[in-house]
Amino acid sequence: MIVSTNPATDETLARFEAHAGDAIEQRLALATTAQRAWARTPLSDRLALLRRVAAQLRADKQALGRTITLEMGKPLAEAVGEVEKCAWNFDFYADAAPGFLADQVVASSASDSRIVYDPIGLVLAVMPWNYPLWQVMRAAAPVLAGGNGLVLKHASNVPQCALAIEQLFVRAGLPEGLVTTLLVGAGAVPALIADRRIAAVTFTGSTPAGRSIAAAAGQALKKQVLELGGSDPFIVLADADLLAAATVAVKARFQNTGQSCIAAKRFIVEAAVADRFVEAFCDITRQLVVGDPLDPRSTQGSMARTSLRDELHAQVQASIAEGAKLLLGGGPVAGRGAFYQPTVFDHVQPGMTVAREETFGPAAAILRVPDAATAVRVANDTPFGLGAALWTGDLALAACLAHTIEAGAVFVNGMVASDPRLPFGGSKESGYGRELGMLGMHEFMNAKTVWTGPVRT
Ligand code: NAP
Repeated sequence: MIVSTNPATDETLARFEAHAGDAIEQRLALATTAQRAWARTPLSDRLALLRRVAAQLRADKQALGRTITLEMGKPLAEAVGEVEKCAWNFDFYADAAPGFLADQVVASSASDSRIVYDPIGLVLAVMPWNYPLWQVMRAAAPVLAGGNGLVLKHASNVPQCALAIEQLFVRAGLPEGLVTTLLVGAGAVPALIADRRIAAVTFTGSTPAGRSIAAAAGQALKKQVLELGGSDPFIVLADADLLAAATVAVKARFQNTGQSCIAAKRFIVEAAVADRFVEAFCDITRQLVVGDPLDPRSTQGSMARTSLRDELHAQVQASIAEGAKLLLGGGPVAGRGAFYQPTVFDHVQPGMTVAREETFGPAAAILRVPDAATAVRVANDTPFGLGAALWTGDLALAACLAHTIEAGAVFVNGMVASDPRLPFGGSKESGYGRELGMLGMHEFMNAKTVWTGPVRT
Protein backbone atom coordinates (compact mmCIF):
# COMPACT_ATOMS: atom_id res chain seq x y z
CA MET A 1 0.00 0.00 0.00
CA ILE A 2 1.29 3.48 -0.90
CA VAL A 3 -0.02 6.11 1.49
CA SER A 4 -0.30 9.84 0.87
CA THR A 5 -0.07 11.80 4.14
CA ASN A 6 -0.23 15.53 4.75
CA PRO A 7 2.93 16.19 6.79
CA ALA A 8 1.58 19.52 8.05
CA THR A 9 -1.44 17.87 9.71
CA ASP A 10 -0.49 14.17 9.92
CA GLU A 11 -3.78 13.35 8.11
CA THR A 12 -3.97 10.50 5.63
CA LEU A 13 -4.98 11.94 2.26
CA ALA A 14 -5.26 8.79 0.13
CA ARG A 15 -4.16 5.17 -0.11
CA PHE A 16 -3.14 3.39 -3.29
CA GLU A 17 -2.64 -0.27 -4.02
CA ALA A 18 0.97 -0.63 -5.17
CA HIS A 19 1.44 -1.84 -8.74
CA ALA A 20 2.68 -5.40 -8.97
CA GLY A 21 2.88 -8.37 -11.36
CA ASP A 22 0.46 -7.93 -14.27
CA ALA A 23 -0.09 -4.22 -13.62
CA ILE A 24 3.65 -3.53 -13.99
CA GLU A 25 3.84 -5.80 -17.01
CA GLN A 26 0.95 -4.06 -18.80
CA ARG A 27 2.33 -0.64 -18.05
CA LEU A 28 5.80 -1.48 -19.31
CA ALA A 29 4.33 -3.03 -22.47
CA LEU A 30 2.27 0.09 -23.15
CA ALA A 31 5.26 2.34 -22.46
CA THR A 32 7.41 0.33 -24.89
CA THR A 33 4.85 0.56 -27.69
CA ALA A 34 4.31 4.27 -27.09
CA GLN A 35 8.04 5.01 -27.10
CA ARG A 36 8.65 3.16 -30.36
CA ALA A 37 5.98 5.20 -32.13
CA TRP A 38 7.24 8.39 -30.47
CA ALA A 39 10.79 7.78 -31.71
CA ARG A 40 9.42 7.69 -35.28
CA THR A 41 7.41 10.90 -34.77
CA PRO A 42 9.09 13.88 -36.51
CA LEU A 43 11.04 16.09 -34.12
CA SER A 44 8.91 19.14 -34.95
CA ASP A 45 5.74 17.26 -33.96
CA ARG A 46 7.32 16.05 -30.72
CA LEU A 47 8.41 19.56 -29.84
CA ALA A 48 4.94 20.99 -30.58
CA LEU A 49 3.62 18.57 -27.97
CA LEU A 50 6.31 19.64 -25.51
CA ARG A 51 4.99 23.19 -25.83
CA ARG A 52 1.53 21.88 -25.02
CA VAL A 53 2.95 20.27 -21.88
CA ALA A 54 4.30 23.69 -20.89
CA ALA A 55 0.90 25.28 -21.51
CA GLN A 56 -0.87 22.55 -19.55
CA LEU A 57 1.49 23.02 -16.62
CA ARG A 58 0.74 26.75 -16.58
CA ALA A 59 -2.99 26.13 -16.83
CA ASP A 60 -2.90 23.64 -13.95
CA LYS A 61 -0.32 25.34 -11.76
CA GLN A 62 -2.64 26.15 -8.86
CA ALA A 63 -4.07 22.63 -8.63
CA LEU A 64 -0.66 20.99 -9.07
CA GLY A 65 0.88 23.38 -6.55
CA ARG A 66 -1.78 22.45 -4.03
CA THR A 67 -1.13 18.73 -4.54
CA ILE A 68 2.60 19.32 -3.95
CA THR A 69 1.94 21.34 -0.80
CA LEU A 70 -0.53 18.85 0.62
CA GLU A 71 1.80 15.89 0.09
CA MET A 72 5.16 17.33 1.13
CA GLY A 73 4.50 20.53 3.05
CA LYS A 74 6.25 23.35 1.16
CA PRO A 75 4.57 26.78 1.07
CA LEU A 76 2.00 27.02 -1.71
CA ALA A 77 3.73 29.95 -3.42
CA GLU A 78 6.95 27.89 -3.67
CA ALA A 79 4.96 24.93 -5.04
CA VAL A 80 3.29 27.06 -7.72
CA GLY A 81 6.69 28.54 -8.60
CA GLU A 82 8.01 25.00 -9.00
CA VAL A 83 5.27 24.21 -11.54
CA GLU A 84 6.07 27.38 -13.49
CA LYS A 85 9.73 26.38 -13.63
CA CYS A 86 8.73 23.01 -15.08
CA ALA A 87 6.83 24.83 -17.83
CA TRP A 88 9.92 26.93 -18.58
CA ASN A 89 11.96 23.74 -18.91
CA PHE A 90 9.58 22.29 -21.49
CA ASP A 91 9.59 25.51 -23.50
CA PHE A 92 13.37 25.64 -23.24
CA TYR A 93 13.85 22.16 -24.70
CA ALA A 94 11.17 22.78 -27.35
CA ASP A 95 13.34 25.71 -28.52
CA ALA A 96 16.77 24.20 -27.99
CA ALA A 97 16.35 20.55 -28.98
CA PRO A 98 16.79 21.07 -32.76
CA GLY A 99 20.23 22.56 -32.08
CA PHE A 100 21.20 19.97 -29.47
CA LEU A 101 20.13 17.08 -31.71
CA ALA A 102 21.53 18.42 -34.97
CA ASP A 103 24.05 16.18 -36.69
CA GLN A 104 27.64 17.10 -35.95
CA VAL A 105 29.80 16.78 -39.03
CA VAL A 106 33.37 15.73 -38.18
CA ALA A 107 36.19 15.79 -40.73
CA SER A 108 37.84 12.38 -41.23
CA SER A 109 39.03 10.09 -44.00
CA ALA A 110 35.38 9.43 -44.94
CA SER A 111 33.47 11.26 -47.64
CA ASP A 112 31.15 12.22 -44.84
CA SER A 113 31.39 11.43 -41.17
CA ARG A 114 29.08 12.72 -38.51
CA ILE A 115 27.58 12.17 -35.09
CA VAL A 116 23.83 11.65 -35.08
CA TYR A 117 21.71 11.52 -31.93
CA ASP A 118 19.24 8.65 -31.74
CA PRO A 119 16.85 7.81 -28.90
CA ILE A 120 17.74 4.88 -26.69
CA GLY A 121 14.27 3.80 -25.49
CA LEU A 122 12.70 3.89 -22.06
CA VAL A 123 14.46 5.76 -19.27
CA LEU A 124 13.58 4.75 -15.72
CA ALA A 125 13.38 7.81 -13.45
CA VAL A 126 13.68 7.08 -9.71
CA MET A 127 12.82 10.38 -8.06
CA PRO A 128 12.65 12.10 -4.66
CA TRP A 129 9.83 14.03 -3.02
CA ASN A 130 11.56 17.35 -2.29
CA TYR A 131 10.67 18.98 -5.62
CA PRO A 132 8.11 16.42 -6.67
CA LEU A 133 7.34 18.03 -10.02
CA TRP A 134 10.61 19.71 -10.89
CA GLN A 135 12.83 16.68 -10.30
CA VAL A 136 10.71 14.63 -12.69
CA MET A 137 10.11 17.33 -15.27
CA ARG A 138 13.74 18.39 -15.54
CA ALA A 139 14.54 14.82 -16.55
CA ALA A 140 11.40 14.31 -18.63
CA ALA A 141 11.70 17.27 -21.01
CA PRO A 142 15.02 16.32 -22.69
CA VAL A 143 14.23 12.62 -22.55
CA LEU A 144 10.93 13.13 -24.40
CA ALA A 145 12.29 15.73 -26.81
CA GLY A 146 14.93 13.21 -27.85
CA GLY A 147 12.34 10.54 -28.70
CA ASN A 148 12.68 8.48 -25.54
CA GLY A 149 9.96 7.49 -23.06
CA LEU A 150 9.92 7.86 -19.28
CA VAL A 151 8.96 5.31 -16.64
CA LEU A 152 8.57 7.06 -13.31
CA LYS A 153 9.10 5.47 -9.93
CA HIS A 154 8.41 8.41 -7.67
CA ALA A 155 9.06 8.65 -3.92
CA SER A 156 6.44 6.70 -1.99
CA ASN A 157 5.24 9.76 -0.05
CA VAL A 158 4.12 11.67 -3.17
CA PRO A 159 1.86 9.22 -5.05
CA GLN A 160 -0.70 11.89 -5.92
CA CYS A 161 2.02 13.98 -7.55
CA ALA A 162 3.20 10.88 -9.41
CA LEU A 163 -0.26 10.18 -10.80
CA ALA A 164 -0.89 13.85 -11.60
CA ILE A 165 2.29 13.89 -13.69
CA GLU A 166 1.19 10.88 -15.74
CA GLN A 167 -2.25 12.40 -16.30
CA LEU A 168 -0.86 15.80 -17.24
CA PHE A 169 1.04 14.38 -20.20
CA VAL A 170 -2.06 12.64 -21.52
CA ARG A 171 -4.13 15.82 -21.11
CA ALA A 172 -1.46 17.72 -23.04
CA GLY A 173 -1.91 15.28 -25.93
CA LEU A 174 1.10 12.98 -25.58
CA PRO A 175 0.50 9.30 -26.33
CA GLU A 176 -0.78 7.28 -23.40
CA GLY A 177 2.02 5.30 -21.78
CA LEU A 178 4.86 7.51 -23.05
CA VAL A 179 5.19 8.76 -19.49
CA THR A 180 4.20 5.91 -17.22
CA THR A 181 3.98 6.07 -13.45
CA LEU A 182 4.60 2.90 -11.49
CA LEU A 183 3.38 3.07 -7.91
CA VAL A 184 6.02 0.84 -6.36
CA GLY A 185 8.35 0.91 -3.40
CA ALA A 186 12.14 1.04 -3.56
CA GLY A 187 12.33 -2.76 -3.46
CA ALA A 188 10.92 -2.97 -6.99
CA VAL A 189 13.72 -0.87 -8.51
CA PRO A 190 16.44 -3.51 -9.12
CA ALA A 191 14.05 -5.69 -11.14
CA LEU A 192 12.94 -2.68 -13.17
CA ILE A 193 16.53 -1.74 -13.93
CA ALA A 194 17.20 -5.32 -15.02
CA ASP A 195 14.09 -5.42 -17.27
CA ARG A 196 15.16 -5.63 -20.92
CA ARG A 197 12.68 -2.87 -21.85
CA ILE A 198 14.44 -0.32 -19.64
CA ALA A 199 17.41 1.22 -21.45
CA ALA A 200 18.84 3.50 -18.76
CA VAL A 201 18.17 4.97 -15.36
CA THR A 202 18.20 8.50 -13.99
CA PHE A 203 18.20 8.75 -10.23
CA THR A 204 17.85 11.70 -7.89
CA GLY A 205 18.01 10.98 -4.20
CA SER A 206 20.29 10.10 -1.35
CA THR A 207 23.84 8.86 -1.72
CA PRO A 208 23.13 5.44 -0.10
CA ALA A 209 20.23 4.79 -2.50
CA GLY A 210 22.46 5.97 -5.34
CA ARG A 211 24.98 3.26 -4.49
CA SER A 212 22.26 0.60 -4.76
CA ILE A 213 21.00 1.97 -8.08
CA ALA A 214 24.54 2.19 -9.45
CA ALA A 215 25.18 -1.42 -8.46
CA ALA A 216 21.98 -2.63 -10.14
CA ALA A 217 22.63 -0.56 -13.27
CA GLY A 218 26.23 -1.71 -13.36
CA GLN A 219 25.14 -5.33 -13.14
CA ALA A 220 22.70 -4.78 -16.02
CA LEU A 221 25.25 -2.64 -17.93
CA LYS A 222 22.85 0.23 -18.28
CA LYS A 223 23.64 3.92 -18.50
CA GLN A 224 22.90 5.89 -15.36
CA VAL A 225 22.84 9.48 -14.20
CA LEU A 226 23.06 9.95 -10.45
CA GLU A 227 22.05 13.20 -8.73
CA LEU A 228 22.81 12.56 -5.08
CA GLY A 229 23.17 14.33 -1.76
CA GLY A 230 25.19 17.38 -0.94
CA SER A 231 26.57 19.54 1.83
CA ASP A 232 27.12 22.69 -0.17
CA PRO A 233 29.54 25.28 1.17
CA PHE A 234 28.64 28.99 1.10
CA ILE A 235 31.92 30.87 1.43
CA VAL A 236 31.88 34.49 2.55
CA LEU A 237 35.20 36.33 2.22
CA ALA A 238 35.98 39.51 4.11
CA ASP A 239 35.48 41.81 1.10
CA ALA A 240 31.97 40.49 0.29
CA ASP A 241 28.80 42.56 0.40
CA LEU A 242 27.77 41.15 3.77
CA LEU A 243 24.13 42.16 3.82
CA ALA A 244 23.55 40.78 0.33
CA ALA A 245 25.44 37.61 1.26
CA ALA A 246 23.44 37.11 4.47
CA THR A 247 20.13 37.74 2.71
CA VAL A 248 20.87 35.19 -0.01
CA ALA A 249 22.40 32.81 2.54
CA VAL A 250 19.17 32.61 4.53
CA LYS A 251 17.18 31.91 1.38
CA ALA A 252 19.76 29.37 0.22
CA ARG A 253 19.49 27.45 3.51
CA PHE A 254 15.80 27.69 4.40
CA GLN A 255 14.03 27.66 1.03
CA ASN A 256 11.96 24.49 0.62
CA THR A 257 12.26 24.08 4.41
CA GLY A 258 15.93 23.33 3.90
CA GLN A 259 15.15 20.17 1.94
CA SER A 260 17.18 20.83 -1.18
CA CYS A 261 20.23 18.98 -2.42
CA ILE A 262 21.79 22.30 -3.44
CA ALA A 263 20.76 24.18 -0.30
CA ALA A 264 23.73 25.94 1.27
CA LYS A 265 24.47 23.88 4.36
CA ARG A 266 27.90 25.02 5.59
CA PHE A 267 28.50 28.77 5.84
CA ILE A 268 32.26 29.26 5.84
CA VAL A 269 33.02 32.82 6.83
CA GLU A 270 36.29 34.74 7.14
CA ALA A 271 36.79 35.53 10.82
CA ALA A 272 37.28 39.27 10.24
CA VAL A 273 33.60 39.66 9.21
CA ALA A 274 32.08 36.64 10.96
CA ASP A 275 30.41 38.56 13.83
CA ARG A 276 28.68 40.93 11.41
CA PHE A 277 27.64 38.11 9.08
CA VAL A 278 26.26 36.01 11.94
CA GLU A 279 24.26 38.94 13.29
CA ALA A 280 22.71 39.70 9.89
CA PHE A 281 22.08 36.00 9.19
CA CYS A 282 20.23 35.57 12.50
CA ASP A 283 18.23 38.79 12.07
CA ILE A 284 16.96 37.65 8.68
CA THR A 285 16.33 34.10 9.86
CA ARG A 286 14.14 35.42 12.71
CA GLN A 287 11.84 36.92 10.08
CA LEU A 288 10.89 33.49 8.72
CA VAL A 289 7.28 32.60 9.45
CA VAL A 290 6.83 28.89 10.13
CA GLY A 291 3.29 27.67 9.71
CA ASP A 292 0.51 26.14 7.60
CA PRO A 293 2.01 25.89 4.10
CA LEU A 294 -1.38 26.75 2.55
CA ASP A 295 -1.40 30.06 4.45
CA PRO A 296 0.21 32.73 2.22
CA ARG A 297 1.81 34.34 5.28
CA SER A 298 3.97 31.25 5.92
CA THR A 299 7.48 31.38 4.48
CA GLN A 300 8.51 28.00 5.89
CA GLY A 301 6.21 25.00 5.82
CA SER A 302 6.51 21.62 7.44
CA MET A 303 9.17 19.07 6.64
CA ALA A 304 8.01 16.29 4.33
CA ARG A 305 7.75 13.46 6.87
CA THR A 306 8.02 13.20 10.64
CA SER A 307 10.78 10.61 10.20
CA LEU A 308 12.86 13.20 8.31
CA ARG A 309 12.23 15.79 11.02
CA ASP A 310 13.35 13.29 13.64
CA GLU A 311 16.54 12.52 11.67
CA LEU A 312 17.34 16.23 11.50
CA HIS A 313 16.66 16.65 15.20
CA ALA A 314 19.07 13.81 16.00
CA GLN A 315 21.77 15.62 13.98
CA VAL A 316 21.02 18.88 15.81
CA GLN A 317 21.24 17.22 19.21
CA ALA A 318 24.47 15.45 18.27
CA SER A 319 25.98 18.77 17.18
CA ILE A 320 25.01 20.45 20.45
CA ALA A 321 26.64 17.60 22.34
CA GLU A 322 29.78 18.03 20.21
CA GLY A 323 30.04 21.70 21.21
CA ALA A 324 28.44 23.64 18.35
CA LYS A 325 26.98 26.92 19.64
CA LEU A 326 23.20 27.00 19.13
CA LEU A 327 22.03 30.52 18.29
CA LEU A 328 18.46 29.93 17.09
CA GLY A 329 15.89 27.14 17.12
CA GLY A 330 17.08 23.65 17.91
CA GLY A 331 13.90 21.60 18.03
CA PRO A 332 10.56 20.60 16.54
CA VAL A 333 7.65 23.04 16.73
CA ALA A 334 5.14 21.80 19.33
CA GLY A 335 1.84 20.47 18.04
CA ARG A 336 0.88 18.36 15.07
CA GLY A 337 2.77 18.23 11.80
CA ALA A 338 6.46 17.86 10.95
CA PHE A 339 7.42 21.47 11.64
CA TYR A 340 10.95 22.32 12.75
CA GLN A 341 12.32 25.60 14.06
CA PRO A 342 14.78 27.45 11.84
CA THR A 343 18.03 26.51 13.52
CA VAL A 344 21.40 28.26 13.41
CA PHE A 345 24.74 27.04 14.80
CA ASP A 346 27.85 29.18 15.15
CA HIS A 347 31.44 28.07 15.88
CA VAL A 348 30.92 24.76 14.09
CA GLN A 349 34.06 22.68 13.60
CA PRO A 350 34.53 20.57 10.45
CA GLY A 351 34.20 17.24 12.29
CA MET A 352 30.85 18.04 13.93
CA THR A 353 27.71 16.31 12.72
CA VAL A 354 26.08 19.39 11.10
CA ALA A 355 29.23 19.95 9.04
CA ARG A 356 30.12 16.33 8.31
CA GLU A 357 26.69 14.95 7.34
CA GLU A 358 24.10 16.25 4.91
CA THR A 359 21.42 18.11 6.89
CA PHE A 360 18.19 17.88 4.91
CA GLY A 361 16.15 20.45 6.78
CA PRO A 362 16.23 23.94 8.29
CA ALA A 363 19.56 23.88 10.16
CA ALA A 364 22.51 26.12 9.27
CA ALA A 365 26.12 25.54 10.31
CA ILE A 366 28.45 28.56 10.44
CA LEU A 367 32.19 27.82 10.43
CA ARG A 368 34.71 30.59 11.03
CA VAL A 369 38.02 30.46 9.13
CA PRO A 370 41.10 32.71 9.15
CA ASP A 371 41.50 33.24 5.39
CA ALA A 372 40.34 32.38 1.85
CA ALA A 373 42.73 29.45 1.45
CA THR A 374 41.40 27.82 4.62
CA ALA A 375 37.85 28.51 3.47
CA VAL A 376 38.41 26.48 0.31
CA ARG A 377 40.16 23.70 2.22
CA VAL A 378 37.25 23.44 4.67
CA ALA A 379 34.73 23.64 1.79
CA ASN A 380 36.41 20.68 0.11
CA ASP A 381 36.67 18.68 3.33
CA THR A 382 33.56 16.62 2.59
CA PRO A 383 32.72 13.51 0.58
CA PHE A 384 30.12 15.59 -1.30
CA GLY A 385 30.66 17.86 -4.28
CA LEU A 386 27.37 19.19 -5.60
CA GLY A 387 27.22 23.00 -5.58
CA ALA A 388 29.14 25.83 -3.90
CA ALA A 389 28.62 29.55 -3.46
CA LEU A 390 31.47 32.03 -3.14
CA TRP A 391 30.96 35.63 -2.05
CA THR A 392 33.71 38.16 -2.63
CA GLY A 393 34.27 41.60 -4.11
CA ASP A 394 37.33 40.34 -5.98
CA LEU A 395 36.13 38.65 -9.17
CA ALA A 396 39.65 37.78 -10.31
CA LEU A 397 40.23 35.91 -7.07
CA ALA A 398 36.80 34.26 -7.43
CA ALA A 399 37.70 33.02 -10.92
CA CYS A 400 40.87 31.40 -9.51
CA LEU A 401 39.17 29.91 -6.45
CA ALA A 402 36.28 28.53 -8.53
CA HIS A 403 38.73 26.08 -10.11
CA THR A 404 39.89 24.83 -6.72
CA ILE A 405 36.43 24.14 -5.29
CA GLU A 406 35.41 20.51 -5.71
CA ALA A 407 31.82 20.80 -6.93
CA GLY A 408 29.61 20.40 -9.98
CA ALA A 409 28.82 24.13 -9.91
CA VAL A 410 30.25 27.27 -8.33
CA PHE A 411 28.05 30.34 -8.09
CA VAL A 412 29.94 33.57 -7.41
CA ASN A 413 27.95 36.23 -5.51
CA GLY A 414 24.75 34.26 -6.02
CA MET A 415 22.73 31.30 -4.85
CA VAL A 416 23.24 27.87 -6.36
CA ALA A 417 20.16 27.09 -8.42
CA SER A 418 19.19 24.89 -11.33
CA ASP A 419 18.50 26.54 -14.66
CA PRO A 420 17.32 24.70 -17.81
CA ARG A 421 20.08 26.40 -19.84
CA LEU A 422 22.97 25.28 -17.62
CA PRO A 423 24.17 21.75 -16.91
CA PHE A 424 23.43 20.52 -13.40
CA GLY A 425 25.08 17.70 -11.48
CA GLY A 426 27.62 16.65 -8.93
CA SER A 427 31.14 15.46 -8.37
CA LYS A 428 32.58 13.09 -5.72
CA GLU A 429 29.80 11.31 -3.78
CA SER A 430 27.19 13.77 -5.06
CA GLY A 431 26.93 11.70 -8.22
CA TYR A 432 27.86 11.79 -11.88
CA GLY A 433 26.37 12.71 -15.19
CA ARG A 434 24.52 15.93 -15.91
CA GLU A 435 20.95 17.07 -16.25
CA LEU A 436 19.66 20.15 -18.08
CA GLY A 437 21.29 22.08 -20.90
CA MET A 438 22.83 20.28 -23.85
CA LEU A 439 24.82 17.86 -21.70
CA GLY A 440 21.63 16.76 -19.94
CA MET A 441 19.99 16.00 -23.25
CA HIS A 442 22.92 14.02 -24.62
CA GLU A 443 23.10 11.72 -21.56
CA PHE A 444 20.22 9.62 -22.85
CA MET A 445 20.85 9.77 -26.58
CA ASN A 446 22.86 7.28 -28.56
CA ALA A 447 25.61 9.48 -30.00
CA LYS A 448 26.10 7.40 -33.11
CA THR A 449 29.00 7.75 -35.54
CA VAL A 450 27.92 7.43 -39.15
CA TRP A 451 30.88 7.02 -41.52
CA THR A 452 30.24 7.13 -45.24
CA GLY A 453 32.79 6.30 -47.91
CA PRO A 454 32.55 7.00 -51.61
CA VAL A 455 30.13 4.95 -53.71
CA ARG A 456 32.24 2.31 -55.46
CA THR A 457 31.27 1.66 -59.04
P1 NAP B 1 15.93 8.61 -1.11
O1 NAP B 1 15.52 8.01 0.17
O2 NAP B 1 17.21 8.19 -1.71
O3 NAP B 1 14.71 8.35 -2.11
C1 NAP B 1 14.74 8.82 -3.45
C2 NAP B 1 14.04 7.82 -4.34
O4 NAP B 1 14.79 6.61 -4.35
C3 NAP B 1 12.65 7.43 -3.88
O5 NAP B 1 11.86 7.19 -5.02
C4 NAP B 1 12.90 6.15 -3.09
O6 NAP B 1 11.77 5.32 -3.05
C5 NAP B 1 14.00 5.52 -3.90
N1 NAP B 1 14.89 4.66 -3.15
C6 NAP B 1 15.24 4.76 -1.85
N2 NAP B 1 16.12 3.77 -1.53
C7 NAP B 1 16.32 3.06 -2.65
C8 NAP B 1 17.12 1.92 -2.96
N3 NAP B 1 17.91 1.33 -2.06
N4 NAP B 1 17.07 1.43 -4.22
C9 NAP B 1 16.30 2.01 -5.14
N5 NAP B 1 15.52 3.08 -4.92
C10 NAP B 1 15.54 3.62 -3.69
O7 NAP B 1 16.05 10.17 -1.01
P2 NAP B 1 15.02 11.17 -0.36
O8 NAP B 1 15.17 11.13 1.11
O9 NAP B 1 13.66 10.93 -0.94
O10 NAP B 1 15.55 12.58 -0.93
C11 NAP B 1 16.52 13.29 -0.27
C12 NAP B 1 17.88 13.03 -0.84
O11 NAP B 1 17.89 13.29 -2.23
C13 NAP B 1 18.92 13.94 -0.26
O12 NAP B 1 20.10 13.22 0.00
C14 NAP B 1 19.14 14.97 -1.34
O13 NAP B 1 20.34 15.62 -1.29
C15 NAP B 1 18.97 14.15 -2.56
N6 NAP B 1 18.63 14.99 -3.71
C16 NAP B 1 19.57 15.20 -4.67
C17 NAP B 1 19.29 16.04 -5.74
C18 NAP B 1 20.32 16.30 -6.81
O14 NAP B 1 19.95 16.80 -7.87
N7 NAP B 1 21.59 15.99 -6.61
C19 NAP B 1 18.06 16.65 -5.83
C20 NAP B 1 17.12 16.41 -4.83
C21 NAP B 1 17.42 15.57 -3.77
P3 NAP B 1 10.81 5.25 -1.76
O15 NAP B 1 10.29 6.62 -1.53
O16 NAP B 1 9.79 4.27 -2.17
O17 NAP B 1 11.70 4.78 -0.63
